[in-house]
Amino acid sequence: MAAAYLKNCLENPVRIACGLRLALFLLLVAGPLAYANPGKFFQLTRLSENVFVALANEAGEETANCSFVVGSQWVCVYDSSQSAEAAEELVRLIRSVTPLPIRFLVNSQYRGHHTHGNQVFLTQESRIVSSRQARLDMINKDMPQLQRYQQVLPDSIERLKKDLRTTPAGPQAEELAKELARRERIQNQLNSLKLVLPEIAFESSITLYDGEQEILVASPGRGSTAGDAVLWLAGQKIMFAGDLVAQKTIPDLEDAFSREWIETLLVLEKMKPEVVVPTTGAIGDDSLLSETRQYLTELRKTVKQYLDKGESLDAVLQNCQLPAKYKNYRDTDFYPNNIEKVYRELQTEALTIGRPAPPAKQP
Ligand SMILES: [Zn+2]
Repeated sequence: MAAAYLKNCLENPVRIACGLRLALFLLLVAGPLAYANPGKFFQLTRLSENVFVALANEAGEETANCSFVVGSQWVCVYDSSQSAEAAEELVRLIRSVTPLPIRFLVNSQYRGHHTHGNQVFLTQESRIVSSRQARLDMINKDMPQLQRYQQVLPDSIERLKKDLRTTPAGPQAEELAKELARRERIQNQLNSLKLVLPEIAFESSITLYDGEQEILVASPGRGSTAGDAVLWLAGQKIMFAGDLVAQKTIPDLEDAFSREWIETLLVLEKMKPEVVVPTTGAIGDDSLLSETRQYLTELRKTVKQYLDKGESLDAVLQNCQLPAKYKNYRDTDFYPNNIEKVYRELQTEALTIGRPAPPAKQP
């Protein structure tokens, strides 16, 4: 993790000052930086004496980073990953560190790669916590989506198998085989999935206390979804930011509120975290917050320039290229979708001028 992070810094000199700050933090506080235990889904990394991150393996499986804080009496976990199988591996990693009960599981938001491991934590008698909005989104968005997947996946898998049989060996057949494996994996996960809703939901924040350990779970405003929650360890200045930030990755704006996301990131930046754990990729510092904010700000500004000239969405999509500095980011194919999302948001904002959404709340 440290090697990847420092490589990142060396490739981008602007980050060196912050990078040194994080490296010093890790050297002074963290002790051993990583366990030599690459699993199928995660690699466990120790961030401080009692804070651990299960970094999601980047190849193959679709999950998010998960984290846990070991208190004096119990453990609090941040995100349960995308499947029971991955969550079982996460629990094994926790058990390799501590026998303490896993009292709380926090879901950072509603989407499946943060919540579909929840059922495993029932066996640990954990209490699941999320923002009220994330819980609502699990009911109103994730459940119907799962039902749709269950209806369409079997047919789509059969169609892919048929296409694969008639496609000559080569790159196209390899792509089809990869997609087939992905859909079959999702179907297997769906067959064993039980969606478990949080039983504790909060409006804007909740604080969990374990002796002297204080854990703030806060949803300061809308962002990558309507109900993202960060986990904040003020004493150690460590922030788990979920999908609100991503390391060298173009974010997925499908469920996002770009204008409010920028406000939310500003609130989080004011908390001055020294370590920020993103949803995917390596651990970073507060520059992850500002980089994500900068991406969103630039995207909105670019699209607005076209919109102000009366350009159609098609024209914007044709003329608007991904800025060169993001060319090496992952998930660059999200960029056209991001343009479309922001274009529609700006159109709506133009119609509702004078009635802006409420500003982000201070956690
Ligand atoms: Zn996510």
